[in-house]
Amino acid sequence: MTRTLITGGLVITAADEIHADVLIEGGRIAALGTPGTHGWTADRVIDAAQKFVIPGGVDVHTHMELPFGGTFASDTFETGTQAAAWGGTTTIVDFAVQSKGQSLRAGLDAWHAKADGRCAIDYGFHMIMSDVTERSLKEMDLLVEEGVSSFKLFMAYPGVFYSDDGQILRAMQRAAANGGMIMMHAENGIAIDVLVEQALQRGETDPRYHGEVRKALLEAEATHRAIKLAQVTGAPLYVVHVSAEQAVAELARARDEGLPVFGETCPQYLFLSTDNLAEPDFEGAKYVCSTPLRPKEHQAALWRGLRTDDLQVVSTDHCPFCFVGQKELGRGDFSKIPNGMPGVENRMDLLHQAVVEGRITRRRWIEIACATPARMFGLYGKKGTIAPGADADVVIYDPHAEQVMSAETHHMNVDYSAYEGKRVTGQVETVLSRGELVIDKREFVGRAGHGAYLARGTSQYLG
Ligand SMILES: [Zn+2]
Repeated sequence: MTRTLITGGLVITAADEIHADVLIEGGRIAALGTPGTHGWTADRVIDAAQKFVIPGGVDVHTHMELPFGGTFASDTFETGTQAAAWGGTTTIVDFAVQSKGQSLRAGLDAWHAKADGRCAIDYGFHMIMSDVTERSLKEMDLLVEEGVSSFKLFMAYPGVFYSDDGQILRAMQRAAANGGMIMMHAENGIAIDVLVEQALQRGETDPRYHGEVRKALLEAEATHRAIKLAQVTGAPLYVVHVSAEQAVAELARARDEGLPVFGETCPQYLFLSTDNLAEPDFEGAKYVCSTPLRPKEHQAALWRGLRTDDLQVVSTDHCPFCFVGQKELGRGDFSKIPNGMPGVENRMDLLHQAVVEGRITRRRWIEIACATPARMFGLYGKKGTIAPGADADVVIYDPHAEQVMSAETHHMNVDYSAYEGKRVTGQVETVLSRGELVIDKREFVGRAGHGAYLARGTSQYLG
């Protein structure tokens, strides 16, 4: 059994910051000890003096190889999980997709086939339900039992992923009974599609109109409706990629009422805005995602929500499409721009930058990026913390390193960076996944197939 000892670092978890040495045995954290007193020996010693020792990031919202709008997200499970590791993330939960007319099982099998043997880090799946039928409702119970305990529904994208209120209600009733978590893309897609059509008729075809038609009020309305449907059924609800101030207010109200309602936002909503969508020469297409980027004024509400725990998780919604050849499909018609942005490699650094800027504390950084996402989706204890018995998914983080984000240097398989030229303080130095080196002093030493599939429990915020 290989023994690894990480010495001299500041160990940060959601709960504590302590100067401790970390002993790893056989892929798990064996013990934390006071430096200079424990006498431990190891096969490998990693010097973490002046560095942070943090749990590997848990990104519960990625879309590797997602088919969308006639093309595919440009990161495979192989390239995407490598990029995640470069950015200090050691667990992803990706979305398997049920196609219309197909079973959940067929969709899940297809996603297992894409990921199996290719991932550099551990991975699990949520299930996207695009066809809520008697059959798929029954299948939900089996999936919860085998470790796919969360189901994403869409109030947007009529004709593709969309579920009507009746279908949503049925899926929520089932989740209330079987312990599953309902994840919701909360935007009123029926109303948005009318506004899209009207905008295009007026000749408003540039990327910035994507942001104008997908109105904040239509996110808030859908968020409110999802909360009420969940309340009627008793199901827990996790609203994905919250971007509008008015949607945060809906979540805050529901939580004040004591409902099991949770909210996630993403770095793009915290750091980017409609100013980016308005960039000339079709450059705005790089920032087309749904929910859309909002005017800058919304950012303060998102940061506040993260501080007050009205928002609990920051994930990436990593869904990259190259500018050349993919985003360009929407030249002359913003509605044809593939929806999605790269970010799996940038999340931990951007949130550390928020620590540097005084927006969140170091422990809150770990809480929203590691601990809470793990707990939300039944992985905590194994993932999301540094404690005896936990998987040795550990990042040595240099809080003083300076870096400039760029497509020239990132490892995501996409031809642009949404944060091109942005200077941040802090950088991942070394990454271990279950005790094995994946990144060693900024050199990739991992391998496709090291990453293991994670059968998840039910949400640890319930019951
Ligand atoms: Zn998504």
